[in-house]
Amino acid sequence: MERLETKQIDHMIDDIQRLKESRNAVILAHNYQIGEIQDIADFTGDSLKLSQEAAETEAEVIIFCGVNFMAETAAILSPEKTVLVPDPEAGCSLADTISIDQLKAWKNKYTNAVVVSYINTTAEIKAESDYCCTSTNALKVINAIPSDKEILFLPDIFLGTYLQTITGRKLQLWPGECHVHAGILPSVVNNLRDQHPDAEFLVHPECGCLTPSMYYLANGNISSKNAHILSTEGMIRRAKESCADRFIIATEVGILHRMKQDNPCKTFLPVNPDAVCEYMKRTTLDTVYKSLQEMIYPVTIPKNISIKAKRAIDKMIELA
Ligand code: SF4
Repeated sequence: MERLETKQIDHMIDDIQRLKESRNAVILAHNYQIGEIQDIADFTGDSLKLSQEAAETEAEVIIFCGVNFMAETAAILSPEKTVLVPDPEAGCSLADTISIDQLKAWKNKYTNAVVVSYINTTAEIKAESDYCCTSTNALKVINAIPSDKEILFLPDIFLGTYLQTITGRKLQLWPGECHVHAGILPSVVNNLRDQHPDAEFLVHPECGCLTPSMYYLANGNISSKNAHILSTEGMIRRAKESCADRFIIATEVGILHRMKQDNPCKTFLPVNPDAVCEYMKRTTLDTVYKSLQEMIYPVTIPKNISIKAKRAIDKMIELA
């Protein structure tokens, strides 16, 4: 989108608000969205929180500003509502690492295994899974499965390896990873922490971009001193309540928008300012406006897939 002038932005925001009311719509925005989208959203949060908001809202239309697998999860939990994504090309490199045929072939090799899928997967993959999980409840999910059961964990190899380290349990791991984490290496983290020894280190592993940091903390490649692994809300709360005035943040840079807004007198240093998910940044005011105006692009999931995927998602929510 061409850069809009402030006046044009204000005008477009007014148009979006007007259209939103006339469509009885609600805007949900993931924490990794650009600041302008977070600012017009009715709710911001992580993928699970947004799906739960989608299920609870009385609005008939949900504009889901995130990536496609998240909008699919919202649509599965709210089958009676219209879920729209402003840009259908907002994919996820981690979710794309496993196809349905690959999963079926893997399951055929381990016929009695329990399949645990990270939330960053398509609806089709969730439908072939026994459990879904987030990085926050993955440990609970693994511990809920009898110890004599083989587990296929997919698609995030870093989260899977972290779980193996913490539980001491052998898992079969799918070798998937998110491209964004490449810039969040232990050496980069350690250098920045050496430069700011008083800063708190906050890790937000909402997406595959940050699960490697959980693994590096667990195996000692990153020091756990003064480090906190937190959910979105935990991170926002910690920044407010902590006496520290400087924080090193391991996350996709989008969440810094809200942290800076909430704590204007504190300093937030991203581990890597270039750790940006380009899929998350595809959504703009322009695409949200078009989405509301033309009612594009609806998320449609075949009923048989939706019903099966919901079983895995429900188990994730039960163990949240
Ligand atoms: S940050 Fe990585 S895992 Fe998260 S949506 Fe983007 S590509 Fe997917």
